[in-house]
Amino acid sequence: MDTKAKKSLGQNFLMDQSVIDRILSVAEVHEHDRIFEIGPGMGALTQALSQTGASVLAIEIDQQLVERLNRIFVQSENVSILEGSILDVNVEELLAHAGYEYQGYKVVANIPYYITAPIIRILLSLRSQASSITLMVQDEVAERIVAKPGSMSILSVMVQYYAEAEKCFFVPRTAFDPVPAVDSAVLKLIPKHRFQASEDRHVFRVVRAGFSARRKTLANNLTNAFHLERARIERLFAALGIEPMIRAQELSIAEWRALADLVAGEIDTPPAE
Ligand code: SAM
Repeated sequence: MDTKAKKSLGQNFLMDQSVIDRILSVAEVHEHDRIFEIGPGMGALTQALSQTGASVLAIEIDQQLVERLNRIFVQSENVSILEGSILDVNVEELLAHAGYEYQGYKVVANIPYYITAPIIRILLSLRSQASSITLMVQDEVAERIVAKPGSMSILSVMVQYYAEAEKCFFVPRTAFDPVPAVDSAVLKLIPKHRFQASEDRHVFRVVRAGFSARRKTLANNLTNAFHLERARIERLFAALGIEPMIRAQELSIAEWRALADLVAGEIDTPPAE
């Protein structure tokens, strides 16, 4: 590279063509697809995406890289590079402007790891969700996201509430330049639940409260957070067939949903005299 990779921007460039080919295959990129890419960097993945014939809209924060990408893709009518931060632009407007909103699109990206959770949150809360989201992430984060009841976290509940999540394959750190300190994995999300701020808020209020003290039982955390009597929480658990001593990390998404509805009802109902 003619300029030094910027560590602060999570710049680790994918050098292994076989990994790029596998990403395309997992993402099922076809000729007429519309692809949204975050952090195209030096354009290795962008190049492969554009060669399928798909249209690529890519957002890159680093001005030097944007200039370089514009030179590389000057002749490619199917590639548009936008300079900006995924955290600052109005992604909804950007997608609408590109005509992606109504025609459907896929996200395919090797993202900067320092903003993995915000990027996933942004993508899953769009009015116009992608049909699929294929992302390179830190291997350990991929494992946390696809965790099963027993090892759940706020992150896995948040992602699995909105999408089916699958870890597709492991990518060793040596596939990148500069070589990062961590291994990676390709994660695929298929959105299944539309984001509805007002309806979802109560679920995440209960989820956050449930995970507030990891060593405590779920019943304890909910009792403290919502100032509800212990017996009321235990009645809710019994109604849902949930063990009284269960911890937050053991609940499934369906149980969180059901529990959140019941807790919301309890908060709105004063205790019996
Ligand atoms: N996709 C390229 C590849 O596979 O080689 C580069 C991946 S590198 C891990 C992440 C890229 O995201 C870098 O080019 C970095 O400059 C860019 N980036 C960092 N923060 C960003 C932000 N907030 N918005 C958009 N791009 C960002």
